[in-house]
Amino acid sequence: MSDANSVNDSEGLIIVSEAACKSVIDRDSAFSAVENVFASMSKGDAYNFPVIREAIGYADALYGFKSGFDRAGKALGLKSGGYWPGNEAKGLTNHQSTIFLFNPDNGKLRALVGGNYLTAVRTAAASAVSIAHLARKDSKVIGMIGAGHQSTFQLRAALEQRSFEKVVAWNGNKERLKKLQAVAEEMGIPFESVEREQLCSEADVIITITSAFEPLLMKEWIKPGTHIACMGTDTVGKQEVDANLLASATVFTDEIAQSISLGEAQHAIKSGTIKESDITTLGDVINGMHPGRRNEDEITLFDGTGVGLQDLAVASAAARLAVEKGKAQHISL
Ligand code: NAD
Repeated sequence: MSDANSVNDSEGLIIVSEAACKSVIDRDSAFSAVENVFASMSKGDAYNFPVIREAIGYADALYGFKSGFDRAGKALGLKSGGYWPGNEAKGLTNHQSTIFLFNPDNGKLRALVGGNYLTAVRTAAASAVSIAHLARKDSKVIGMIGAGHQSTFQLRAALEQRSFEKVVAWNGNKERLKKLQAVAEEMGIPFESVEREQLCSEADVIITITSAFEPLLMKEWIKPGTHIACMGTDTVGKQEVDANLLASATVFTDEIAQSISLGEAQHAIKSGTIKESDITTLGDVINGMHPGRRNEDEITLFDGTGVGLQDLAVASAAARLAVEKGKAQHISL
C-alpha cells in the first residue's frame, strides 16, 4: 500500500509537478491505490472530512477542499481547487487542483502534488474498480455517455477490466467523440457513435461522465445484467440517469454520505424512490462483506461521487514514487 510516511521528514518539503505525476502514476498504480482506500473506508480505517465548495463570486469560479485521513495508508491531507470556466479560452484546464500531504505523526507539510492529472486517473480508477468487481465477466460492449476531459481516461481504464469487443458512445457535440474513437482504435476495438437508447440496448457496461442536470438515460432503456458507473454527478443538482433506474438497480457507491447528498442517488433519495439503506459501499464488496452482483440479470449501478481519500491515495503513491525515481523537487522548510 502507498504510504506517505515512507517519504520521511529528512526529504524536506516535496514538490511533485503535473509532469512528474504523469511519469510515475500509471493506470495500475491508480487502480490499486483507489481499491485499497475504498477497502480502508469500509473497514473504518479511513474517513473523509466534510467537503467545502463555494462559488467565490470571482471569475465565475467554484473553489473548495476535499480532505480526509487514511490511518492504514497514513495519508493525511487535502485537495484544494475547483472549476474556472474561463480557463479553456486561455489554454488552461477548467478544473485546477493541488494536493497537500501532511505527516500524520507531527503535522508537518510533507508534499505539494499537482492534482489535475491525478484527479482524472483516480476518477477513472474508481469506475474501473467498480467494473472489476460488479460487471458481468462476459461483458462485451462498453457504452460511453459524455466526451469531455475525463472521458478518455475513463475509457482507457475501463477497457482493461473486461474483454470488450466494441465501444458505443454518445455526446451532445458529436465532434468531441473523435477523442474516444481514437482511444478505441488505438486498442484495436471497433467504435460507433449512437443515440442514447441504442447505446443502452447494446452496452453491457455504461459509463456516464457528463455535467448534465437532467437524466440522460431512462430506466426502460437499460437491459438486464448491465453495469452502470455514474461518474459525472458530484454536485447538488447534477443528474445523469432516471431516478427510477436506481430503484431497479443494486446501488453501490464510494461514500454513502456523498451519494445521498451530492451524488447520483440524491434525486432518488429526495423523491423517496430508494432509501439510504439500499446503498452499499464498493469497499464492502472489495472486503467480501457484500457479494456484489448476485446474478447475470441484476442491474448494478456505481454512484462514483469522488472522495478526497482517493486524491490522497494517488498523491501519496505519486510522492513516494517521485522521490524513489528522482522526479521530486525538495525544499527545506
Ligand atoms: P468537461 O467539461 O470536459 O466535459 C463535460 C461533458 O459533459 C461533455 O461531454 C459535455 O458535452 C457534457 N455535457 C455538459 N452538459 C451536458 C448536458 N446538459 N447534457 C448532456 N451532456 C452534457 O468535464 P469533465 O472534466 O469531463 O467532467 C465531466 C463531469 O465529471 C463533470 O460533471 C465533473 O464535475 C465530473 N467529475 C466527477 C469526478 C468524480 O470523482 N466523480 C471527478 C472529476 C470530474
